[in-house]
Amino acid sequence: MTLATPIQASLQSLMTEVALQTYPASTLYVVATPIGNIGDISVRALNVLAIVDAVACEDTRNTAHLLTRYGLSKNLIAAHQHNEREVAEKLILRLRAGERIALVSDAGTPGISDPGARIVDAVRSAGLRVTPLPGASAAISALSASGLLHDQFHFVGFLPAKSKQRETVLLNLRGLAATIVFYEAPHRIVETVAALADAFEPTRTVVFARELSKLFEEIHRCTLAEASAWLAADPHRQKGEFVILLEGAPAIGDADAAQAERILTILLGACSVKQAATLAAQITGQKKNALYERALQLQQHSED
Ligand code: SAM
Repeated sequence: MTLATPIQASLQSLMTEVALQTYPASTLYVVATPIGNIGDISVRALNVLAIVDAVACEDTRNTAHLLTRYGLSKNLIAAHQHNEREVAEKLILRLRAGERIALVSDAGTPGISDPGARIVDAVRSAGLRVTPLPGASAAISALSASGLLHDQFHFVGFLPAKSKQRETVLLNLRGLAATIVFYEAPHRIVETVAALADAFEPTRTVVFARELSKLFEEIHRCTLAEASAWLAADPHRQKGEFVILLEGAPAIGDADAAQAERILTILLGACSVKQAATLAAQITGQKKNALYERALQLQQHSED
């Protein structure tokens, strides 16, 4: 592609500029790696991976493969869920000796539903510097493309596999107004969506963000009532990696308004606008004039 030439030239000068920046020694660099697309890594992250003395990683084979794609070969230290504490001690000794070490996970940002937090805690507690190299995270990517009005969000990550524990977690989230973010694997997606449908109002919006940044990326929005049927309609929809976003609890005002509207609609099927507004005001305790105006609109709408 002809466009590549000017981009290549500026990338090269950008890499030179970034390479001249300061990268303190005795520092643990927490490096975000792509969640699918090999291109989703920053110039600065690449530079850090190039200059560090070692890379602590969740799975040495995965990271070796990733580094090879970037033309790098590094001393790798396995740092997974089961050995984080021991590895942290070794990393601290190496950092104290003046080394620079990168911490990566298999995909996305370390410590976000991934190993890394314990190492970071230990290194910081030892008085050593930890610096993040910002980049991909599935949760943030999904939120950014969801179209949900998410001034606030609550990150849950993976729900417990056991149904009783999962139910308890979900029940505790019922009143939360913020968008709720779940991670899920393909073998549990159907079960998890069924559990969400049991725990939350069917009218809530749910967003499936599947295979982000990959060939079969798909972002689908529907109501929770429609979610299981959407998944079942095509077996491909149950494949790959998922972020599930669930709209938060409706504000009390919204819930009341929705309820009043439902009552008005039912009454309009049997009474005049005036009678419907009077009865709806008695049932809901809301203002009769406002209900009368809304009833007129609903009737007009049904006649259009
Ligand atoms: N540390 C990662 C991050 O920053 O997003 C998350 C790692 S966690 C072990 C893996 C889960 O993240 C997957 O099961 C899925 O829920 C989500 N995930 C990772 N990559 C994804 C992608 N490309 N599309 C959708 N979800 C993804």
